[in-house]
Amino acid sequence: MKMFSDLPIDILDRILTFLPDFKTLSAVLRTSKHHFYQVFQVHPKSIVLSIAYGIVGPSLPYAIKAQLIADGPSPIRRAGTDTDDNVWSRSVAVFVEDRDLKDCVFTRSMAQCISEQAAAHWELEDLFSHRHKDRTSSKSVLTPPESFRFQRAMWHFAAFTCLCDLDIDDQEEYEKGLVKLMTTLSTEELLEINVVKPFLERPQAVLQSYKDLDVTEAYDWVDHGGLPFSDAFDAIWLKRKLSEEKVKEKSEKAILDSVNGDKDPCAKCNQVFGMKLWGPGNRELLQGHQPSNVVTRCLPGNLSRNLVEPPLILQKLRDQTFEINRFIEELIDLDCDTGYNWDKNEWYCDECIQELYKQRLRLWWIGQKTKDGHQFGDDCWYGYNCRTQTHKFAHAQRLNHLCEPTRGDPA
Ligand SMILES: [Zn+2]
Ligand SMILES: [Zn+2]
Repeated sequence: MKMFSDLPIDILDRILTFLPDFKTLSAVLRTSKHHFYQVFQVHPKSIVLSIAYGIVGPSLPYAIKAQLIADGPSPIRRAGTDTDDNVWSRSVAVFVEDRDLKDCVFTRSMAQCISEQAAAHWELEDLFSHRHKDRTSSKSVLTPPESFRFQRAMWHFAAFTCLCDLDIDDQEEYEKGLVKLMTTLSTEELLEINVVKPFLERPQAVLQSYKDLDVTEAYDWVDHGGLPFSDAFDAIWLKRKLSEEKVKEKSEKAILDSVNGDKDPCAKCNQVFGMKLWGPGNRELLQGHQPSNVVTRCLPGNLSRNLVEPPLILQKLRDQTFEINRFIEELIDLDCDTGYNWDKNEWYCDECIQELYKQRLRLWWIGQKTKDGHQFGDDCWYGYNCRTQTHKFAHAQRLNHLCEPTRGDPA
């Protein structure tokens, strides 16, 4: 009988290149010290590169550049033995160098870092696809070229953000360095980052889903104005003679060649909203998209400024167990006639979703309080139109304002 150990070295080498990740590689090397370990020692780099390629995909060269920058200047800079100028020049050198993958410095620890970050990038691609390519699918449906452009933008972005670690106090100098680095990229590559940037600057949605990944800290940081990205972009567009309109027009096609359902209308108002529609496939994303006070602002009359009810509703909406999808379904399922036949399988625009809140939030809240065994006070005569509820806490607390007004001209 043929033994595993009789397999030719080429086959063993090939098996190693197909391993799914570096954890598996370590496990295999540990358990097969004689065979696999020896094979690995012959071609460590090509095996590591193949596994990394399987994880990262065709954007791997950009991932390696980002990692070289992350590993390179920062520690030296931190030790205070280098000048800012050298740090930027070296980063620029890494960016412009067009080396073949097989000639790159590529260690197992670099590969490990890259694959961890790649996992986050793939998840972000899912989110990007869900928000910009196809609102009905929570998994990426980007075509291979679209996916490549998205991933390349993410690695470029990662390279920029890892330079944020640098202890550079002078903002002006930092911006100059960033422009220098960004200038090495083609207009197409820069436009890709331009598309990804606002997506990352809306971190609620990103953080909501990916809060446990370390990369989010960087994205959050960008949101807080840490990177002078906009100024750097402006400087480069000016140099490349690209007007604001041109940048906007070209950015639309920078990553995506097409958008699924971009001509779909809102089921209620019939206007075309495409990707800006919310329905059964993407409603959970509203949680990051729509601040919860938008919901309470839809309460009728002066109820949105009542001193007691909106804070209680907000508390509920911001609770960890709150699910916006279920909330909207509950609004739609309410047994009441509010003049329009809402359908939970339909897609609605932002404005129509707010119309749903306007029509039904008050009734839903009464139902929630009743379910919780709340003892309602006497109805205020002026109901939700009462003005006193907005400035007298005792009045707002004592009387019920969730009712219809029974008298006009609120006091
Ligand atoms: Zn609408
Ligand atoms: Zn009142």
